[in-house]
Amino acid sequence: MGMRIDFHTHIIPEQLPNFFEKYGQERWPILQPTCSCGANIMVGGKVFREVTDQVWSAEKRIEDMAKEGVCMQVLSPIPVTFSYWAPPHAALEMAVIQNDFIAETVKKYPTKFLGLGTVPMQDSEVAIKEMDRCIHELGLHGLEIGTNVNGVNLDSEQFQPFFEMAEKWNVPLFIHPWETLAKDRTPDHNFMYTVGMPSETALAAASLTFGGVIEKYPNLKICFAHGGGSFPFILPRLDQGWEVWPHLRKTSKPPSHYVQNFYFDSLHYDPLNIQFLIDRFGYEKIVIGSDYPFLLREVPPGRVIDRLQDISSEVREAIFSKNALEFLNIKETNLRYGKQSIDSRR
Ligand SMILES: [Zn+2]
Repeated sequence: MGMRIDFHTHIIPEQLPNFFEKYGQERWPILQPTCSCGANIMVGGKVFREVTDQVWSAEKRIEDMAKEGVCMQVLSPIPVTFSYWAPPHAALEMAVIQNDFIAETVKKYPTKFLGLGTVPMQDSEVAIKEMDRCIHELGLHGLEIGTNVNGVNLDSEQFQPFFEMAEKWNVPLFIHPWETLAKDRTPDHNFMYTVGMPSETALAAASLTFGGVIEKYPNLKICFAHGGGSFPFILPRLDQGWEVWPHLRKTSKPPSHYVQNFYFDSLHYDPLNIQFLIDRFGYEKIVIGSDYPFLLREVPPGRVIDRLQDISSEVREAIFSKNALEFLNIKETNLRYGKQSIDSRR
């Protein structure tokens, strides 16, 4: 079956402190146990999501991985914990707890897990400091960031110092939708997940390309959740906008020129969409992502790749594992011995 790395999985510490009690704001996510094998993530007194112990137990995850043919999971925080809305010092505290937990989990099972951290994007200075700690002290492999920060798109001037350092330190960024656009029009039918998230991801990718961030920091490595949402499909329309509105141009070339370092996870469910991604961006830019352990996840991870017709074993192997390692700056030879190394330009 080949080695499969599931690039898109989420984890949270079972002993997450109650920040609502500590800081008083309703928006802090709280983990409220429902049994020994599960909990509710509560936000503002309401159940945000029911979760099982898969979301915190490394051992449980390893059992599932064995069942589903996954050899490694890349661990990232649950976006509801980003806490960009909070005061930076409190959001940093939340980030540190999660980053330490992810680093410990990776350290305990170095042949099973790789880790991405989170940083308080509402304050670039604090975000850069925590990025430094995540990568150079904790040995995490990259960061997960949201598609917007308090409703501000990623091409805003305020995030430029962060992107500058991420590029300088060669820190891979996993961009995950959260606080999706059109929230007022998507509460019904869970459209927030099926329409809001892909549109939100497209807006983030559009901001980075059209908005000039990638032209400024061309070596940034970015992977988009959910296969980039609707971005791959609307890219020609963005180019057309760039063509017909010269006064709006922020870059010397159309947006499609700036996607060379974009990676996409495979969470599109349909092999037709994956074929489209391959044709448009190259098979080297696709990694398996399942959104384990949540309801919309793909089981087993990489199923959509299994269903792709006529791809060579070389392409399959790249999508299954090589591309993820390439994205995360990990040398496969080091991985076999359970020692992970980071190629940092620091
Ligand atoms: Zn996810």
